[in-house]
Amino acid sequence: MTEYAAFAALPSNVQIREVGPRDGLQNEDVILTTVQKVQLIDALADAGLREIEVGAFVKPQNVPQMADTSAVFAGLRRKPGVRYSAIAPNPIGARRAVEADADAVMVFLSASESHNQSNVNRSVAQSLAGVADMAEVVRVAGKPFDAVLSVAFGCPFEGDVPIVRVLDLCGRLLDLGAQQLTLGDTTGMAHPLLVQQVVLAFRRRFPRQPLRLHLHSARGAGLANILAALQVGISDFDSSIGGIGGCPFAPGAPGNLCTEDLTHMLHEMDVQTGLDLPALMETARMLEQMIGHEVPSQTIKAGICKHLTQGNRQQATGYSRVGMTT
Ligand code: ZN
Repeated sequence: MTEYAAFAALPSNVQIREVGPRDGLQNEDVILTTVQKVQLIDALADAGLREIEVGAFVKPQNVPQMADTSAVFAGLRRKPGVRYSAIAPNPIGARRAVEADADAVMVFLSASESHNQSNVNRSVAQSLAGVADMAEVVRVAGKPFDAVLSVAFGCPFEGDVPIVRVLDLCGRLLDLGAQQLTLGDTTGMAHPLLVQQVVLAFRRRFPRQPLRLHLHSARGAGLANILAALQVGISDFDSSIGGIGGCPFAPGAPGNLCTEDLTHMLHEMDVQTGLDLPALMETARMLEQMIGHEVPSQTIKAGICKHLTQGNRQQATGYSRVGMTT
């Protein structure tokens, strides 16, 4: 029987981790300057974000967009209360993240063998051995160590990923010392009922372990999946300013959930985020200038609903002046 929760009360507060500067920018053709990246991240912190994925400590030849992550960390105006994190694929990257004084170091592992091979050219077992070495580096430095399990809701090469496999890998990551655990719908294959099934199974196995979701909207289900997750008590999510990045397999399709769209929906449902939505929208417009093209964000096109009803019609764009609308 499919397990799901209809009409459940929603959490009153949600914490959003901003992943645009890493997961977004690494998929852009234009490589921003260090100064631009610092400007973007400082603006995100000013808009109220309390956790920001700053960059990745990977080989520059693999991801040239992330080559200056150390310099970005050095240039940030560190705002008190903001957690500036970075991802690292191996112990060398973890050491560089520690040297850059990242507030947390994140590791990635795929729930399926094929995706892990294609992503990092290693088996899951080999990756787990690497995670153990990285965890040691991060632990010795006294930093938190977080883990993201990719393709946890479906793999583009293998299809369905058994929930028991997802949970077993979560258990391995927790045994290795992971503090925050995130499940990723890396290619947007989840649907609302699957999200609830996975979350409820996770809760049964790890009743006291907080869980974050990194959802994508490659097939349009992103915000529906958020609602489904809220209904089973999840209140930590990743999203990307402007909705940039996260869909390398389908150019032009939406990938990462858009921070402004997610924030707008939550605020309309009276779920608090602590975020300044107009400031986020300004930041998304600044990002458009930096990368030289429109971002997928719907909210910066349609405007904030509450502003329409408060008479601030100039805040809303995207309405045609003539013609029939339905
Ligand atoms: Zn993503």
